[in-house]
Amino acid sequence: MTPALEAILQDGPRLQPGEVWLVGAGPGDPALLTLEAVRVLAQAEVVVHDALVDPRVLDLAPADAERIFAGKRGGRPSPAQRDITERLIALARAGRRVVRLKGGDPFVFGRGGEEVFGLAAAGVSFRVAPGLTAGLAALTATGIPATLRGANQAILLATGHPAPDQPEPDWAAMARLGQPIVLYMAIRRLAAISTALIAGGLSPETPAAVIASATTVEQKVLVSTLAGIADDTRAAALSAPAIVLIGEIVAARGALAALAGRVAA
Ligand code: SAH
Repeated sequence: MTPALEAILQDGPRLQPGEVWLVGAGPGDPALLTLEAVRVLAQAEVVVHDALVDPRVLDLAPADAERIFAGKRGGRPSPAQRDITERLIALARAGRRVVRLKGGDPFVFGRGGEEVFGLAAAGVSFRVAPGLTAGLAALTATGIPATLRGANQAILLATGHPAPDQPEPDWAAMARLGQPIVLYMAIRRLAAISTALIAGGLSPETPAAVIASATTVEQKVLVSTLAGIADDTRAAALSAPAIVLIGEIVAARGALAALAGRVAA
């Protein structure tokens, strides 16, 4: 380890007794953790983690740190969000040094916002360490530029699975923008979402991709069209976690691969 790396891993605020850090664990590959995540994990007495966290990341906490699974996976029984927040509050009030490890970035579709509101309301001190969000990392890791001059000026990050008390996202409005759409938690609702986007004016031939388990050894990429993506995903038996990308930038992947092949030949 160089002195510069050692300094980054040692400096910075320390996790205090009675404090909770929400830490982004990145998309999957432990090499995509931040140095801050590594530093804070090493100071944890308790790690409360999701289903999406790689065991090698949990191994960065001290061997005697308590590990509490608070997994949330669509379609399977999972602890209520309120129970997770209550648990974090109770651990902090017991004077523990608590890391709440969350997949990707804690504040992107991960209910991190709800957790810090709960902590703040209870008077518990907290910090939030950003992580690499799956929706962007999945694209980069599979050779799809999230922005490409001439192709798009914006990129939308949307949930395919709104909370029960929330309205359906305005798919027609998103279709009208004509910018690429990255969907989290969407594969089980892909048929309805693609139908709504086509009804909103997007061409059925718009390139679309599903990237499952991005940045892990299980990573799979499926490329199709907006009209075909739901059936193709079912046929390929792709399962969560997966990111769905709809937009012309999907085609850049094939173009890049072809060019790279030419360069290599
Ligand atoms: N806070 C997380 C997102 C939590 S919502 C983040 O910033 O990445 C959970 C959804 O994230 C999953 O349903 C899936 O859509 C996406 N996701 C998380 N990890 C993923 C991965 N390795 N590959 C593909 N999608 C992933």
